[in-house]
Amino acid sequence: MNKKVVIIGAGLGGLATAIRLSSLGWEVTVVEQGSRPGGKLNRFSHLGYTFDTGPSLITLPHVFDRLFNVCGSDFYKLIKPLQIDPLFEYRFDVGDRLTYSSDLPELAREIERVTGSIDDVKGLYRFLKMGAKLFELSEKTFFQSTPMSRPTFEDLKSLLSAPKLHAWGSYDKAVRRHFKSSQMRQIFQRYPTYVGASPHRSMGTLALIPYMELAFGGWYVPGGLYRIVEELVLMATRAGVQMEMSTRVSQIQMEGKRVTGVVSTSGQFYDADVVVSNADPASVFDFTDGVAGTKLKAEEHSMSGFVMLLGLDRKVEGLRHHTVCFSGDYDREFKQIIDEQRFPDDPTVYVNIPTVTDDSMAPSGKESVFLMANAPAGSQVWTREFELEAAQRIRKRLASSGMPDFMEHARFVEYWNPARFEREYSSPRGSIYGRVAHGWGGTFLRPPLKDPQVQDLFYVGGGTHPGGGTPTVLLSAEIVSGMVGKP
Ligand SMILES: Cc1cc2nc3c(=O)[nH]c(=O)nc-3n(C[C@H](O)[C@H](O)[C@H](O)COP(=O)(O)OP(=O)(O)OC[C@H]3O[C@@H](n4cnc5c(N)ncnc54)[C@H](O)[C@@H]3O)c2cc1C
Repeated sequence: MNKKVVIIGAGLGGLATAIRLSSLGWEVTVVEQGSRPGGKLNRFSHLGYTFDTGPSLITLPHVFDRLFNVCGSDFYKLIKPLQIDPLFEYRFDVGDRLTYSSDLPELAREIERVTGSIDDVKGLYRFLKMGAKLFELSEKTFFQSTPMSRPTFEDLKSLLSAPKLHAWGSYDKAVRRHFKSSQMRQIFQRYPTYVGASPHRSMGTLALIPYMELAFGGWYVPGGLYRIVEELVLMATRAGVQMEMSTRVSQIQMEGKRVTGVVSTSGQFYDADVVVSNADPASVFDFTDGVAGTKLKAEEHSMSGFVMLLGLDRKVEGLRHHTVCFSGDYDREFKQIIDEQRFPDDPTVYVNIPTVTDDSMAPSGKESVFLMANAPAGSQVWTREFELEAAQRIRKRLASSGMPDFMEHARFVEYWNPARFEREYSSPRGSIYGRVAHGWGGTFLRPPLKDPQVQDLFYVGGGTHPGGGTPTVLLSAEIVSGMVGKP
């Protein structure tokens, strides 16, 4: 008889682990509460408009390719990802704009033009050098497919001994040390939000994020990033993975301290030799009454977001695929989100218009627009009235940044708020990236990949090691599959 593994959740991490473990010879069943696979990497379609409801940009495409290779497929040929360059247009409150190219000499010219000096060009090179060093060290330690549940002391030591890195203080201080202009500071302060963290509370080690983005590019997938999920589901089913949709796991069954399977809310038992949870370790803590998983305090959750999906009745000219409209006072914005735990008065708005690159995402002559602002995790405040209030703040910010009034031309608006993220994905407090990467603990001591209390119970995804974001989730699947090993 084949040995069985049950995976709780068909998010990116769950699907990747299913494919990897089935290729090792396990009989794999994925049990997903939602009616569609993909978790936070998902899709919304309406009146011929298509939207990615989660990620809109991926980095490290070679990590995706490694997963596709497990099934003999080629990510680049099958998915045909497109590198978006220039990657962003940044709009500042003071009125100026910076086009962020992945071509370094071009970017250097643009920085000099906007800031009026080459100081921040030099700062950029130094900051990227630090990011490169950190990336190289992480590849040898935290990102490795070695059977470890947490980084070892040796891993930390090798990172710490990195010569002359200003990586151990606050990320914000590292940014201020490297950049003089308000514009470059704002651009680089934003990167910790890629993992739902604040620049003021996270460590300089996150400098590897802007490095990875520039070095490996920011990529889009024609047809939307959900195409990745569609291919992964096909690969998994071909490999014999059993997918049980609309089935919520409410118990982990054990004999003594050893896992024997999971039970759904309808009482269905799925027996297993090994269980891998793609549900956040904090959510497992809740539904097992603390027997398994990791308890998180309210302030330990990463940020959530407020997202608006708009189907426009026309094209808007002169806009890029990715634009960021910065708030007037970024420090105040983080203070409101992190310290005061409230949606900011003046939110920085990320504007994603996939139809700039890909006509298939909307009816001919129309535009699909995705707007996102960071929001604190926590669902209580999100009544319908508050959602409309938040939408007005976004509209005001867009107007101040010289953006067209998207809402005036919207045939419909679909809202996603932290309460919806929590409801649809059982994401604790609607947080997007699990435990927040604040300080040493949040960065290095994430909830472990292997449950410390329960034997044969593992975790995969943004809530565990190494952290959130699509490529990191795939690394998590690589590491945990190595730990589970052959049946
Ligand atoms: C708005 C938004 C924008 C983002 N932008 C980007 C981006 O641009 N680039 C990027 O790289 N990343 C981005 N991300 C983050 C990225 O989407 C996530 O890090 C990644 O998809 C998380 O994958 P995961 O494996 O951790 O699982 P999740 O997506 O959290 O999936 C977990 C799955 O488990 C299921 N589940 C939970 N509990 C149970 C249960 N008890 N029983 C059964 N099933 C259960 C859930 O329904 C879900 O399907 C974004 C996310 C959001 C929401």
